[in-house]
Amino acid sequence: MPSLAVHGGKPVRETFLPYGRQWLDEADIDAVVQVLRSPWLTTGPKVDELEREFARTTGAGQAVAVNSGTAALHAAVFAAGIGPGDEVILPPLTFAASANAVLYQGGKPVFADCLPDTLLLDPAQVERRITPRTKAVIAVDYAGQPCDYDALQSLADRYGFMLIADACHSLGASYKGRQVGSLAGLNAFSFHPVKTITTGEGGLVTAADGELAKKMRTFRNHGISTDFRQRSEAGSWLYEMVALGFNYRLSDIACALGLSQLSKLSAMLARRREIAHLYNKAFSGNPAVMPLTQRPDCESAWHLYVVLLNAERLRVPRSQIFAALRAENIGVNVHYLPVYRHPYYQQLGYNYSLCPAAEAAYEEMLTLPLFPAMTGRDVNDVVMALEKVCTAYAK
Ligand SMILES: *Cc1c(COP(=O)(O)O)cnc(C)c1O
Repeated sequence: MPSLAVHGGKPVRETFLPYGRQWLDEADIDAVVQVLRSPWLTTGPKVDELEREFARTTGAGQAVAVNSGTAALHAAVFAAGIGPGDEVILPPLTFAASANAVLYQGGKPVFADCLPDTLLLDPAQVERRITPRTKAVIAVDYAGQPCDYDALQSLADRYGFMLIADACHSLGASYKGRQVGSLAGLNAFSFHPVKTITTGEGGLVTAADGELAKKMRTFRNHGISTDFRQRSEAGSWLYEMVALGFNYRLSDIACALGLSQLSKLSAMLARRREIAHLYNKAFSGNPAVMPLTQRPDCESAWHLYVVLLNAERLRVPRSQIFAALRAENIGVNVHYLPVYRHPYYQQLGYNYSLCPAAEAAYEEMLTLPLFPAMTGRDVNDVVMALEKVCTAYAK
């Protein structure tokens, strides 16, 4: 048996393979250069164009581009009317920004547990957390698989709160034949380089309701009701600030990159699915690793490929498997520490143990590299490294 790199053996690969990375081509670069030669670097025509194209692609009514996924979540929380004293229910297995957006508006994040096999928000746990102060639920499409939107929307209708999708992982996924982006009242996306498509930094919110979209357009522009181009077209100098907003605008440079990336969405998704299926097949015979369950009525966007390690088959904890794989030059990761366990949330007074399913999964989870630019050889390296490490540490 080859000796583990962590014990001084030869690593499975010579160079480090990250868990995610952008996929750019010459067309993307040309699109950016064109804007750099144009009169509008920001608040120009590429913003509208990206919004229209994104809404068309996802079947959403309206799209509002902003400069990060975090800004998208903040704009959604603002549009939902969250303020001091309002409670927003969300899962703990997410990037901290999902909960931070609630704090930005003075609301209170309330954590509800996940289903143990998909790690998606459990509608039954959501219902247990509902109080008269519940104003919204943020559903996180963990790893790229949509949450159970029918169940969550029926709770939203029954109890009268807003359903917000944190769709930062799930651009291109579908639920019962419906596209992510049109599943919740407000749907937030990120264009960070590890996400499905990128603009460097960037984000966007889709909304079915035109009034909410208008509110978010004002919010991303300091709370001012018209932008520079609209005023210049109207030949007017007057602007009025009607709410406390932020500068969350996405530049035309970024939007041009986003448009070019969006035109390749289906190819990027196809490659992600292909790699996921190769992993599924490879791990079906490895009892030490259990991929997340995929619901038959959903198609995941495969932002992350997450496995749960089977403690009954391994002699060492996740931390040692993680270190051994990193030594083999496989960029495994962990998504995520339950949000309420971050020191900042602990200081706010959150209990350390709130969601047992999420906490148990957190101890066993590992994210494997998955991005469209991976070669067949890269995929094979991941499979071989996992085999090697699981065999060396088998019980
Ligand atoms: C990436 C991400 C965000 C934040 O997006 P940024 O563009 O990095 O601000 C929020 N929620 C989830 C689930 C994410 O994965």
